[in-house]
Amino acid sequence: MMNPPETPPVIFIMTDGVRPDAIATANTPALDQLKQRGAYTMQAQSVVPSITLPCHMSIFNSVPPSRHGILENHYHPLARPVTGLVEHLHRKELRSGMYYNWDFLRDVCRPGYLHTSFYVNTAYNINGDEIIVDHACEAIAANMADFHFVYLGTADTVGHAMGWMSDMYLLQVEMLDSLIGRVLEAAPTQSHILVHSDHGGHERDHGTEMPEDMTIPWFLVGPSVRQNYEVQQPVSLLDTAPTIAALFGLPSHRDWEGQPVTEAFINQGDEQAG
Ligand SMILES: [Zn+2]
Repeated sequence: MMNPPETPPVIFIMTDGVRPDAIATANTPALDQLKQRGAYTMQAQSVVPSITLPCHMSIFNSVPPSRHGILENHYHPLARPVTGLVEHLHRKELRSGMYYNWDFLRDVCRPGYLHTSFYVNTAYNINGDEIIVDHACEAIAANMADFHFVYLGTADTVGHAMGWMSDMYLLQVEMLDSLIGRVLEAAPTQSHILVHSDHGGHERDHGTEMPEDMTIPWFLVGPSVRQNYEVQQPVSLLDTAPTIAALFGLPSHRDWEGQPVTEAFINQGDEQAG
């Protein structure tokens, strides 16, 4: 199977449980740089229930939990399966890689479609995202995939243990930011990089429809993306798969209910003018 020779990668970094106001409060030079270099919104929306596995099923399948039916952190096969992002890319001969430290995410795509993956059970260790980023950087440098999913789970862990917006949580967000900086350095120049959370949190939990749980930060950078631009259109988790497909020049799958975040893209006219 030939890979298109000049497909720059799309790298999707998931910051589990990171609230937008945490980024505003903590010292986050890498994420601040993404704002300057790209399009962003601090008002993107999670799904109901704002729980990690339901959120990820919505991210990878572009349908709400009421459609995929995963309503808690427990997977069961879908009664009516959806063609997800990884399967969709695979049909176009685009290779997906996944680097993660929370095992339940193994079900965001069906067996037989990933090109590479790395899992280690470290989401509950304070330094447990470092090994994920080590591996992701190696895989990116070695061109092991066209689409790289980098899952960082420790900010959520610290939120549950110490409270969202606690000093320890903010410190963990700063640590995450430095790891994101490493991925940015490892990424080839023409890469597109998407960074967003699955949900926020309040006190020591999340899962409700409260704005603290539902509102998430969202950043996109790359050659097709506007710079220093705040996206005004509503952005939801359902839009991730269509947006990533669009970055590869592909239409959405007909099963998907989200839309590509086209407002973030440089249109033809802008490009010629720019
Ligand atoms: Zn989560």
